[in-house]
Amino acid sequence: MKKHNFNSGPSILPAPVIEQAAAALHDFNGIGLSILEIGHRTEWFIAVIEEAKALVKQLMQLNDDYEVLFLHGGATTQFMQIPMNFLTPNDTAAYCDNGIWGSKAIQEAGFFGNVHIAASSKDKNHTYIPKNLSLPNNAKYLHITTNNTVEGTQWHSLPETNLPLVADMSSDIFSKPMPFNHCSLIYAGAQKNMGAAGVTLVVIKKDWAASIQKPVPPIMHYQKHIEAKSLLNTPPVFAIYVALLTLRWIVAEGGLTEMEKRSKQKAALLYHTIDSLPIFTSYVAKEDRSLMNAVFFMKDENLLSSFLQTCTENGMVGVKGYRTVGGIRVSMYNALPLESVQAFCELAQYFAQKHG
Ligand SMILES: *Cc1c(COP(=O)(O)O)cnc(C)c1O
Repeated sequence: MKKHNFNSGPSILPAPVIEQAAAALHDFNGIGLSILEIGHRTEWFIAVIEEAKALVKQLMQLNDDYEVLFLHGGATTQFMQIPMNFLTPNDTAAYCDNGIWGSKAIQEAGFFGNVHIAASSKDKNHTYIPKNLSLPNNAKYLHITTNNTVEGTQWHSLPETNLPLVADMSSDIFSKPMPFNHCSLIYAGAQKNMGAAGVTLVVIKKDWAASIQKPVPPIMHYQKHIEAKSLLNTPPVFAIYVALLTLRWIVAEGGLTEMEKRSKQKAALLYHTIDSLPIFTSYVAKEDRSLMNAVFFMKDENLLSSFLQTCTENGMVGVKGYRTVGGIRVSMYNALPLESVQAFCELAQYFAQKHG
């Protein structure tokens, strides 16, 4: 039986996406070859990547000022690649220090230039989103993480700034409509909300990429990837195909408005349940709670292993909190059905009655 998959990433994919991907492993579009066997410069794959790019732009409502790239190396490589392209040792970039992923991005930027911390929530273990930013005028860009996957906080609106805005959207990409055109660069590892591991989506404003002055090795150079249309070297063909199937699924289900509606419904049920059960506690500021990853704790920590065990016995996976945070984390990405959240909430109520 299919498990209730609350994994934080790689995570649940829509069932039709898995079925179509499996079929393409045997025979891609009836051409007599597996998707794993076709060249990345064939008309077959060009059609895949061009449709995927078009769907990204359609869902984000972006015009031709933007280019969509499918790159290697995960979101973590973007932590390095962004400052490698846009920061020199004399430059400064502004970063929001709101969680473990943002902190890693800050460390990487330090290899290339100066980092100005625009805001930090470190004082309270990254349990809230600081909204008052200090932004130096000469900063090259402002970097934020729109959803803090580990800590369970989320920016519910993008910050106002005149600086080029760079956003790590790895864990809430395509979960809701956003003013994507306020960003100069958006990136996301695909394995949370838009596909399988192995490809990273980068959406970049073309004129910003064209402004890169410093010498950058071609494989790390955004402008070179734009010129090569994401085919500078062999791209992750299968992962891009799975992303395409996921993008098609999002569109067919009703697009980002529908994804947001479902996310709100799932998160409302989950948070309502944990708030109403005295065995749980949460330190995340309510107004900053993530609709994607709910992070909370057992008041009596001794009950945690028993609760996690009960989840496992009932076919629920991925409920254990991140290793440095502990507690419980329930991830509710686009593909997670409401029924899974309902099942979790019923189990939580049952457990609370037994141990309350
Ligand atoms: C998972 C995650 C990352 C790291 O992604 P990789 O693809 O493993 O490099 C970075 N940022 C955020 C917000 C994430 O959730």
